Amino acid sequence: MDTVKNILAKQELSKEDLVVLLNAGPEDAALIFQKAAEIKATYIGNRVHLRGLIELSNMCAKNCLYCGIRRENKSVERYSLSDADVETAFQFAIQNKLGSVVIQSGELSSLAFIEKVESYLRKAKEMSDGKLGITLSCGEQTEETYLRWKAAGAHRYLLRIEASNRELYNRIHPNNLLHDYDRRLTALTSLKNCGYQTGTGVMIGLPFQTIEDLADDLLFMRDFDIDMCGMGPYVEHEQTPLSKYNSMLKPVQERLTLTLKMIALLRIIMKDINIASTTALQALADEGREQALSAGANIVMPNITPGIYRNKYALYCNKPGINEEAEDSKKNLELLAKRAGCEVVYDAWGDSKHFIFSKV
Ligand code: SF4
Repeated sequence: MDTVKNILAKQELSKEDLVVLLNAGPEDAALIFQKAAEIKATYIGNRVHLRGLIELSNMCAKNCLYCGIRRENKSVERYSLSDADVETAFQFAIQNKLGSVVIQSGELSSLAFIEKVESYLRKAKEMSDGKLGITLSCGEQTEETYLRWKAAGAHRYLLRIEASNRELYNRIHPNNLLHDYDRRLTALTSLKNCGYQTGTGVMIGLPFQTIEDLADDLLFMRDFDIDMCGMGPYVEHEQTPLSKYNSMLKPVQERLTLTLKMIALLRIIMKDINIASTTALQALADEGREQALSAGANIVMPNITPGIYRNKYALYCNKPGINEEAEDSKKNLELLAKRAGCEVVYDAWGDSKHFIFSKV
């Protein structure tokens, strides 16, 4: 079997190589993180871009078995931000030179929801003279809706596959048309067809998930030629059906290390994409997001949703920052980026270089 050092010297990594790297012990893992950091410095620079995260609504038509805001969780107090709340969040992003926002929501496909999102996109552009970059993360929609939102100003879209192994996907979702694996793939393809910078991602450390699955997840992202990635550790939520398998979970430290390895390996195989250091990392360890920046991530997302709503958008337990306001979240992430030795870039969209170069 090749050593980690030999594998890291290769131009192309096979599934077998990725499995060896994902299984690497602490000393070899340090080599992987070092290689990822070198690649990030060369292709991206030691910079971090900000995305102000707006959690628009926790209402969702779906019932994903791992998610705290799934439709059948009756303990969740449902909310949708008011127009004034959303405009305040846009204003905060503009005044604080965040450059971009992410509008995230539970998945709804009513005309009222589609029009609401469209109106917010137009408002963000109007308030910022077209300067605010906008990523959407509002689930599976028709190509017509994606086009409509793109025409209104969205240019990036994150839709996580969550698990690229069809069998595993079916184990963590209800088996019906609304949660169909092929429907998710079709939506991802539609996003590309519509010209979005397209992002996806997976959960790491799910019950039933193998190291081979994770290697396949990396290859899925490479072969789908994504522009951005938002992936994080699976963090259980007690009020979900999947929590009955909690005894199968890897210990927290192991899930964290595995997630950091996934980020580093994705940076190694997809050198110029945007990779987010996701909030779920911090649910496992205080320095989780900082470590992700050192392992190859280049995007952080200060939560600029008004503080009173934060604990209502709990996809998983121990969500960090639920007692913060937008200002606190921004300052904390700026400090975190500095501690990771990264320069924070203001007033820029921070588009995926991978996407930009693919259009040249
Ligand atoms: S993961 Fe997304 S689509 Fe699934 S229940 Fe949660 S918010 Fe809804």
